[in-house]
Amino acid sequence: MQYFPLFFDLDGQKVLIVGGGEVALRKALLLERARASITLVAPRVAPEIERRAAQGALTLERREFLPQDLDGARLAIVATSRRALNRWIASLCEARAIPVNVVDDRRASRVIVPAIVDRDPVLIAVSSGGASPVLARRWRERLEAFVPARIGELARWLQALRGASRRRLRDTGTRRRFFESLVDGAAAERFLAGDARAAERIAQRLLASSSAAPQAPGHVALVGAGPGDPELLTLKALRALQDADVILHDRLVPAAVLDFARRDAVRICVGKMPGGRGASQESINAALIEHARAGRRVVRLKGGDPFVFGRGGEELQALARAGISYSVIPGITAASGCAAYAGIPLTHRDHAHRVSFVTAHADEDAEPDWRSLAAEKVTVVFYMGGKRLEHIAAKLIAHGAPAERPAAIITRGTTAQQQVILGTLASLEGSQRMEDPSPPTLLIVGEVAALHEALAWFDTSASAAVSESA
Ligand code: SAH
Repeated sequence: MQYFPLFFDLDGQKVLIVGGGEVALRKALLLERARASITLVAPRVAPEIERRAAQGALTLERREFLPQDLDGARLAIVATSRRALNRWIASLCEARAIPVNVVDDRRASRVIVPAIVDRDPVLIAVSSGGASPVLARRWRERLEAFVPARIGELARWLQALRGASRRRLRDTGTRRRFFESLVDGAAAERFLAGDARAAERIAQRLLASSSAAPQAPGHVALVGAGPGDPELLTLKALRALQDADVILHDRLVPAAVLDFARRDAVRICVGKMPGGRGASQESINAALIEHARAGRRVVRLKGGDPFVFGRGGEELQALARAGISYSVIPGITAASGCAAYAGIPLTHRDHAHRVSFVTAHADEDAEPDWRSLAAEKVTVVFYMGGKRLEHIAAKLIAHGAPAERPAAIITRGTTAQQQVILGTLASLEGSQRMEDPSPPTLLIVGEVAALHEALAWFDTSASAAVSESA
């Protein structure tokens, strides 16, 4: 971030404008809206500037700039047509630590002026950091069309409700939920449609019912975070993240997904490392119950889909036993995500009529039915198989699968680091000599895997470039 964004209260503060042309006039008009005390210095000025000075909207000094003009200034805007003069004034500002903007000269400027949508008191500022003013203006126009005309009045009305809400709803969480219901619900809708009285009625009813309720009951949402690409999150998951007070997440959940959460939400990583380190299942269940009982909105966020090798079922059973209210928001499981991003259709009329999701975790009691997995026209997706490729290949071959059956190893699927290695069961059998693929790793066995060569589309080099610039 090259520029730190902030909103500057200039009410009654001295702002110096140097220059008397159209650009200086535009800045003066903007600063008038911020109620700044404007001093404008220039030997010659546009007629409109003269008019505004005569009306008392600004103080006009009709002469060349002098260094003492900067005395007491909170901000300086430099807009003469002489570049060397502009830069000299900018250097004086720098020496005195006065924020300075030199119009059309980003390098000489300490601060830059964004494109804005002004629905006072709601203000949206857009900047490209000087990279492309046209881009910033276009987005400003789009936002202008998108933001409701009465949003400023809505903000004032909500502000007026703050006193009453503070008196009647003592708990900050309850207050936040009260305002969220207003903003997300019928009240704001009625208000923006011009029916302020209906909005007020809804708000008063909501205020009464919120203060009557002893405490909002807690809730746990079991949410699938998808396989890696943050844009594969569902809209419902996004909403749940933004509403959550507490988020308990796995190690596999990418940071970019957690970034969607409210800033003041508590994030707790309860991820289990392969091999068992991390919080135990019992302590995770206990934490979910405890947070929900304290009235919090809890999100239990899991990689992929919570019901696919995620122990989501066990957590729900614990919540059900404890009488906690819960919901489940599905996610895109690694098999779907990795297959899609590798160009490997999981079923295909010619190559696969069945697909099995199998965990390759070493568990003596839960050996899969190898004969059925080795059958023809079947796609088998192995989760958690990174370390057992050789074992899996040997078992499948021993149960009748041909050694030349295609297999694809996908690591970190759907992310900019995705790698796909295409081989056969025979080449997997020798995979001990292969580099240990870095987790998380998914193995897809079946005729469909070979389609990767013709159908791959996901360009990791392009997406790496995008994530670097983001
Ligand atoms: N609930 C998750 C699976 C959890 S088990 C889901 O529905 O996807 C964890 C295993 O998922 C990993 O060992 C790996 O086999 C697989 N996995 C998850 N994300 C993956 C990714 N981005 N690329 C490859 N495999 C992945």
